[in-house]
Amino acid sequence: MASRLGYPDLSGLDLLELFAFIHPARFCVPTPKGLAHALELPEPRADDAVPVFLQQAASVLLSRCANTGWPEREGAWSSLQSLARLRWPWAQVLVPHIAKPERAEKWLFSRLPEWEEAAERPQPGLVLMEENEIDAQLERLTGTGAERREGQRNFARDAARVFAPRPARGSPHMLLAQAGTGIGKTLGYLAPASLWSEKAQGTVWVSTFTKNLQRQLRRESARAWPVSRADGSRPVVVRKGRENYLCLLNLEDALQGGFGGRAAVLAQLVARWAAYSQDGDMIGGDLPGWLGTLFRSRAIRSLTDQRGECIYAGCPHYRKCFIEHASRASAKADLVIANHALVMIHAARAGFGSRDHAQRPTRIIFDEGHHVFDAADSTFAAALTGREAIELRRWILGPERGSRGRRRGLAARLADVSSYDEEGGKAIAAACETAAALPSENWLQRLAENQPAGSIEMLLAGVRALTYARDESGGQEAGYGLETEAAQLDGDFVELAQAACVALAEIRRPLIRLGVRLEKLIEQPPDWLDAQGRARIEGARHSLAWRIDTLAAWEALTSRLGGPADPGFVDWLAVDRSEAREYDVGLHRRYLDPMKPFAQAVLEPAHGVMLTSATLCGHAAEGPAWDEAIVRSGALHLPAAPILSSAASPFDYATRARVLIVTDVQKGDLAGLAAAYARIIEASGGGVLGLFTAIRRLRAVHGRIADRLARAGLPLYAQHVDPIDTGTLVDIFRDDPAASLLGTDALRDGVDVPGRSLRCVVLEQVPWPKPGILHRARRAAHGGKAYDDQIIRARLSQAFGRLIRSQDDSGHFIVLSAAFPSRFLSAFPIGTEVTRVTLDEALQLLVSGVCDGEARSAVRTQAPDVRAGTGADAIGSGDEGSAVKGCS
Ligand code: SF4
Repeated sequence: MASRLGYPDLSGLDLLELFAFIHPARFCVPTPKGLAHALELPEPRADDAVPVFLQQAASVLLSRCANTGWPEREGAWSSLQSLARLRWPWAQVLVPHIAKPERAEKWLFSRLPEWEEAAERPQPGLVLMEENEIDAQLERLTGTGAERREGQRNFARDAARVFAPRPARGSPHMLLAQAGTGIGKTLGYLAPASLWSEKAQGTVWVSTFTKNLQRQLRRESARAWPVSRADGSRPVVVRKGRENYLCLLNLEDALQGGFGGRAAVLAQLVARWAAYSQDGDMIGGDLPGWLGTLFRSRAIRSLTDQRGECIYAGCPHYRKCFIEHASRASAKADLVIANHALVMIHAARAGFGSRDHAQRPTRIIFDEGHHVFDAADSTFAAALTGREAIELRRWILGPERGSRGRRRGLAARLADVSSYDEEGGKAIAAACETAAALPSENWLQRLAENQPAGSIEMLLAGVRALTYARDESGGQEAGYGLETEAAQLDGDFVELAQAACVALAEIRRPLIRLGVRLEKLIEQPPDWLDAQGRARIEGARHSLAWRIDTLAAWEALTSRLGGPADPGFVDWLAVDRSEAREYDVGLHRRYLDPMKPFAQAVLEPAHGVMLTSATLCGHAAEGPAWDEAIVRSGALHLPAAPILSSAASPFDYATRARVLIVTDVQKGDLAGLAAAYARIIEASGGGVLGLFTAIRRLRAVHGRIADRLARAGLPLYAQHVDPIDTGTLVDIFRDDPAASLLGTDALRDGVDVPGRSLRCVVLEQVPWPKPGILHRARRAAHGGKAYDDQIIRARLSQAFGRLIRSQDDSGHFIVLSAAFPSRFLSAFPIGTEVTRVTLDEALQLLVSGVCDGEARSAVRTQAPDVRAGTGADAIGSGDEGSAVKGCS
């Protein structure tokens, strides 16, 4: 609210801060109703009951501190003393309620458990799984009383095929499984996965794209595995990128003066959470997503290990480190729940260190498999940009003068190596000298003033000038990012690129030498190198290998400029901007087909891989259209053909859902678009998920209608407007059937809201792909318009998939498009009624509800299902309007 009213930080008694202190690591939707649920109090019945409720909630929270059974008491008194020194407003209120403990409380860092080194898991056994065993396992997981679902059983049997011993090296069993929404695919694959892991004593990786599915998987896996084994180890582990976890060293630094003002209060609340967190996951784990928002700072991020500066065994908290806990636990786990990017990075980097090799995923289930292509596209990309380059500089040289924090450069991190090993010391010194060529502080400003320093900044200045000169995307006026092809470059530019290439090679060389010296140290360890020191050197070697690889990719990128184009890649220059403000400049390179490196790094070394999703492939008249799924899965690059499996959704879309194509909201009419959204939300009484293809339009629509809707008791939330993370926005939306939510891509298939809270999905227009340089190249390589159509159909199916999440759901899917091409209608499940109507007619249908058979048949009479008709795009709306009005 403060943010919408344009207030600066509010200082006061915020109940959510109190909640975070008293119940750290507990879930709470950050609304009065959500607080009522979390505290098991009756919900306030209307807005005017909220002020009284908030006071009641505060007194309940305070009374819990006095309760002897308060489960989160440990550490509260000590934390409160620090918070009182920081003048946290609640401290004075809390002091009388929290008694000083009789014995001194342990400091957070001594309370956390330590991980133990364990022997490597032997390779999995070769086992056979009979169909009746798989059926029995599925029945055990679904519960004996669960209705027997044929589709799910067949799906489970197909999934089991990826666990058979592979026939040849480089030729894993590969399954593409289209699984209609509602068939129960999670338990469908967890059944054979759990059976295999039990029999073979091996690890299965399940990879998802969204955090939401990770949470769901964690819940559902409890049916197959206990929380912990007899020896205390965990059979199921969630793994994310290290930048998601709290770095205890960063937290210690923040608690000891690294953070000031409100950020210091946040650090104390994070420390409270860390003591009770399940796994230290700050982004999408059990740290409330709203906590960072309350403090309006980027402090949360700086408590994670964002820049790969971990000093491993050199860190005093190494044995308690959450990241190390997760990494070790996953080596022994039966099930590792991860995300696509992490699985790919793991597989690609498996050769860099023995520990990673042992952790290479070999049986992988990619759920939300339709995202694998995009994840591979970003994972195997190269970008030499100012931001990336300055990060490398800081990693080598340490922070620039005047910056706070504990960050140290290579020389400080490996001081013992340089004092022991002369060659190693020289390599470090040379790396530091050559890294001075990388961009330094204020590089963006120097570029803007045409005063670049050093050969890399000079190249970036050239990129910037050329991009501004050539871009014709219309982004210059609109304030968007700009880009231009890396082609037809003149001699001056090529010279800049070559100079940068030489400078990059000069940085890479000493790093390679250093890597060799570190390897030697590990192979022939000196007496002083204990197990911890060895682990630290292993860690340094590991992070060195990434940087060497990155530098090699940058060199390849710069050396190519001016030469003949490599048809396997797409290269371009870009200036990244947000609302006309530049934030990055650089060169980009993507594989034309990112599934090539994906197949090489992930598929070939694996033994069994499954890709599954409700929208893995489109529908053709004769059944699933597999061709595109085979191309986008990487299966094309394997010697054997993939196994194909498809299970139709059990949902009755014909009676539970209706697609309305609204024909009288004109493209470009922002006022008309906003009015249409407002009227739809009013007619539906909330429960609307509005999807946009441009943030600017989303903001404009929100700005015009939020106030009007709020007055009608219909709260409207929006991504890119409300300063709340997306997961929390979805939690708020899920919790309030009167609320509506606007968003962009992330919400198109990252939202799972069954029940009444989501009863209408509205698309502002046909979701055309962004016509960038990369898209143009892929479009040209893959059949032009057909390629675009494929993308649009997939986006429509994903968006439609948000609507019906359970057997009892029903609702409308509305596209505001005057000219919605009929060829996209196959995106919707077979049997779904599709009708073209005016906005007025759509509103009346919304009011009458999807299951109103009378309205349905009246619409059918006057406005035939456009899927059935040929050339039905041009159906008029006047007659249908009266028919619809009549039936309502
Ligand atoms: S081991 Fe690394 S990530 Fe873990 S707490 Fe220490 S510095 Fe942070």
